[in-house]
Amino acid sequence: MNKTIESKLQNLNIEKRAFIDGIYVDSIEGKTITKLSSVDGRDISGLSACTELDINKAVDAAMRSYQDGQWRKMSLKDKKNIFYKFANLIQQNLEELALLDTIETGRSYKNYFFDSIPKAIEAIRWFAESVDKIYDHAISTSYTSSATIIREPLGVVGIITPWNDPLVVALWKLSPALLMGNSVVLKPAEQSSFSILKVAQLALEAGIPKGVFNVVPGYGTEAGKALALHNDVRGIFFTGSSLVGKQILQYSGLSNMKKVGLECGGKSPFIVTKNYSNFQKTSEVLAKNIFYNQGQICSAPSRLLIDNTIKAKFLELLLLESGKYTPKNPLDLESEVGAVVSFKQKERIEAYIQSGIESGAKIITNTTKKTPVDGGAYIQPIIFDDVHLDSLIAQDEIFGPVLVVLGFDTIEQAIEIANHSKYGLAASIWTNDFNEAHYVSRALESGIVHINSYGDDDYTVPFGGVKESGLGKDKSIYAFDEYSNLKTIWMNFEIVRNDT
Ligand code: NAD
Repeated sequence: MNKTIESKLQNLNIEKRAFIDGIYVDSIEGKTITKLSSVDGRDISGLSACTELDINKAVDAAMRSYQDGQWRKMSLKDKKNIFYKFANLIQQNLEELALLDTIETGRSYKNYFFDSIPKAIEAIRWFAESVDKIYDHAISTSYTSSATIIREPLGVVGIITPWNDPLVVALWKLSPALLMGNSVVLKPAEQSSFSILKVAQLALEAGIPKGVFNVVPGYGTEAGKALALHNDVRGIFFTGSSLVGKQILQYSGLSNMKKVGLECGGKSPFIVTKNYSNFQKTSEVLAKNIFYNQGQICSAPSRLLIDNTIKAKFLELLLLESGKYTPKNPLDLESEVGAVVSFKQKERIEAYIQSGIESGAKIITNTTKKTPVDGGAYIQPIIFDDVHLDSLIAQDEIFGPVLVVLGFDTIEQAIEIANHSKYGLAASIWTNDFNEAHYVSRALESGIVHINSYGDDDYTVPFGGVKESGLGKDKSIYAFDEYSNLKTIWMNFEIVRNDT
């Protein structure tokens, strides 16, 4: 392991308490979370396990800040300047934030430093640049009346995030929510709270008034549930599993019918037809997207659908590419792929692998490699062939480095297999036939379709799924709609001059 990184890690002062009303505070009941880092099993316990009492305190603080209006009524120009400063402060603390995320989630430091956290910073800048480019509407309904349609903040908004890309997902939601004038209480995943707790302090330093952005760590079933059930919270925006997403919908119905946004799981199909010529490129793109971050990406293409006539040749190339994603110590600077997030997640993935073997599917990758760090939680890339369409490995989101291969004979069959899933997040079709590309991309039940590519990413484009992959959109101008309500104001005019 890199000694400099290790000594920087040792010198970090990790904040593990909630951030409420502009200060760090212990949880009211004083409970903490015990956990070991998946990097090497070191003890990283001590994160506050907040409960309903802390959530109530944070919502009260958020409500006070919303009602005093200092942030809500601030001009867009001033909000933007604060946001640029906020982005700069995160940039200045990039190394520390990357270390915090690595030690908590096991994902590689290099990923966080060069890819993930820069994308989170970009989100802040992109939304700040965009917020004054969207206009409200005025409609001349008649000669003597008109109506304006304006966006208004929801009020106090709750955000619940997962662990797989901690700051990116948080800032995709936080940026449009704050810029629309809401006050926010964010409940990060219990596996990954250190970096966002640090970011909360940076937001205050940048000029976001106290109480406007609060972070309350803790378990989902306690702190997350209390936030989603709170009657003063007017919107709850969640990224995580579909199972919990469905509970969030129920909490809204059981409380105040708060607005709900859900970004949930996926089992995304990657369809390779015989009409595509560059299989080398295709295999590189597939291996990168399924095995990056040990497969813990919601939109990872975890199902390869391949024309049976090219399957053998394609799998040969894919096996070579997969070897490049063997996990290594995430604290080594050249390491691309680190550990899975936790020992529990490792057990969960291994149970799926076992179920695949029992269902008759065959592993075609080399699984005998040694673990890169003793005491850590690592899984070698797995590719299953001879997969039964209705088996668990073909239907469930494993959220690990596991790819299933499903052959097809006709393009109709490929579409049928692709849509035979409760999920609909992302998909891809590889073909040089323009008509086939159009036909398949329209037929796929998916929020995002890539033609001859995968994982294209830009803030101008909305991200989100259909079916049990979720409701609503992150990113792009459309994200502002999620965190605001439209209000119609009618204006009627009396004609005062007789000559008109
Ligand atoms: P998870 O659903 O277990 O937890 C997500 C968050 O919800 C955590 O903060 C957790 O504490 C909280 N939570 C858990 N139970 C809760 C409850 N009863 N009430 C309120 N909150 C509760 O998901 P995870 O394991 O942290 O993340 C992995 C999942 O996230 C995968 O399914 C993945 O596909 C999904 N994800 C989706 C996207 C997307 O944009 N579509 C992005 C990243 C991750």
